[in-house]
Amino acid sequence: MGHRFGSRRSEVSPTTERPSVKREEAPRQAVEATRQTQAPANTSLRVIPLGGVGEVGKNCTLLQYGRDLVLIDAGVKFPEGEMLGIDLIIPDTRYIREHLDQLRGIVITHGHEDHIGALAHVVISLGSTKPIPVYGSPLALGLAEARLTERNARHLVELRSVDPRKQLKLGGLQIEFIQVGHSIPDAYCVVIHSPVGPVVYTGDWKFAGMPEQSLARLRQLGDEGVTALLADCVRIESPGRTGPESVVTAALEEIVRKAPGRVIVTTFASNIDRVANLINSAHRLGRVSVLVGRSMERNLSVAEELGYIDVPDGSVIRADDMRRWKPEQLVLITTGSQGEPAAALSRIAVGEHRQIRITPGDTVVMAATPVPGNEESVGRTIDNLFRAGAEVLYPSVTPNIHVSGHAAREDHRELLQIVRPRYAAPFHGEYRMMVHYKRLAVEQGIPEENVLMPSLGDILDLGVQRSRIHGSVPHGSVLVDGLTVGTVNNVVLRDRRALAADGLLIASVVVERNTGRPVATPEIIARGLPAESEALLTGAQERVMRALQRLRRGEVEYRLLGDLIKESIGTYVHQQIGLRPMVLPVITEV
Ligand SMILES: [Zn+2]
Ligand SMILES: [Zn+2]
Repeated sequence: MGHRFGSRRSEVSPTTERPSVKREEAPRQAVEATRQTQAPANTSLRVIPLGGVGEVGKNCTLLQYGRDLVLIDAGVKFPEGEMLGIDLIIPDTRYIREHLDQLRGIVITHGHEDHIGALAHVVISLGSTKPIPVYGSPLALGLAEARLTERNARHLVELRSVDPRKQLKLGGLQIEFIQVGHSIPDAYCVVIHSPVGPVVYTGDWKFAGMPEQSLARLRQLGDEGVTALLADCVRIESPGRTGPESVVTAALEEIVRKAPGRVIVTTFASNIDRVANLINSAHRLGRVSVLVGRSMERNLSVAEELGYIDVPDGSVIRADDMRRWKPEQLVLITTGSQGEPAAALSRIAVGEHRQIRITPGDTVVMAATPVPGNEESVGRTIDNLFRAGAEVLYPSVTPNIHVSGHAAREDHRELLQIVRPRYAAPFHGEYRMMVHYKRLAVEQGIPEENVLMPSLGDILDLGVQRSRIHGSVPHGSVLVDGLTVGTVNNVVLRDRRALAADGLLIASVVVERNTGRPVATPEIIARGLPAESEALLTGAQERVMRALQRLRRGEVEYRLLGDLIKESIGTYVHQQIGLRPMVLPVITEV
């Protein structure tokens, strides 16, 4: 079955094996993780967002109850344009590292990058000597496993798939999983049970697509009394309700039916249901589908092997076999819905794709909205596709080709009415979204002082008597640089910004060890300066020479010497051409 996906099977196979997932037999299985000593009766539950509040991305929330820690999600955030050369932003896990012996496991709500993308970095940074148990749905674990394997971190975790019908016991906490609607199958809301009463952590959610029994369970919890509701608020600014995926399925099917030629649809590779529904629609309309892009092939392959999708035999062909079919018999499903320069659709749009060229008659469907920050690159891709002669359909001009996976304002209102929590706190959103959530919660009758507005690292201290924000733990963002496989701090970022804008000057100086006297004329190399004139370099050389000669004679003090070189060159170049290039002193002593 699995052979239909992944046209370059051998290349992707290490990441598409069925994850060796242990099924959690019964709560009893996890008793090994339970501490013998019970937490005192008045212990509060501490909920500590290490990511995902006041920002969209790197969702990561730490639970602390007595001497037990449980981490929910370990997601990434993608950098903004001005963070040059930064590939990923991940949560700071110092606090967990300091209490590593208390970590009972990591619970994954669903398989999106902003929830699993930092798992490998996090488990590597924790440096645990024994594998850390990671709990989640088979799909979330399968997608996470692919990432862990890529980063050579698979051996650092033990993947255990959860049964949503059973609660998971982790130390003094019982974790319950409730399936919610979202843009990936098997997304869970997590209910944390402890003596402080149930705390509902929604994860990413919407009502559309939520199973009936999940709704019933939320009602039941509401009736019994919920201490706190911690809600994904990212779409609170949208009025009304978020619609179901079936709307998109129908709209895409209609587009394929009417299209005169080839149809190219781009969407998130993780939107497995949308892709599977499209494959089925195409098949019904006598077309075959082709998956284009590495993550599209990989995700669908994982999902198919785990039994999440069911498509007819022969409905998906390899890209290499495309030329045997006429354009009007093809539906291409590609990555690149965010205009990412390296993704398939962006390459297709500029005529750089190995196998696919746009020709008049092609219909391109953008079945996704740009994530904030990506509007410009998505717009460029659409422009390029029009230029190449394609008809392009995108959400702002064509209705129903995308629905969000997140609850809109009225969905939130209904959830507040169902759960009726004593306390509420917005998660998974920028500050303005959190403000709107707070207002809605107050509108729904929660006292203003009972709506907590957490910042990164804040300790939400949830108790039977009262809940409040009380203190904080070390927190921050760790910037990951694909090249150096380490972490990058703000100084490095500032340097890169300077490099991009103002260029670089390298000043190579040879000095005498005991006196600090220059042995030869300093050598100055310029890169990326608009006017790399001889005169400028000679002038800089003279300035450095003069500065060195002014130095008090004595043993070389590198820092001082370095600063002196930077200062003399920096001031001179700024006077001459108005730029502040980065100056890199290279000091050699003889
Ligand atoms: Zn999500
Ligand atoms: Zn999310």
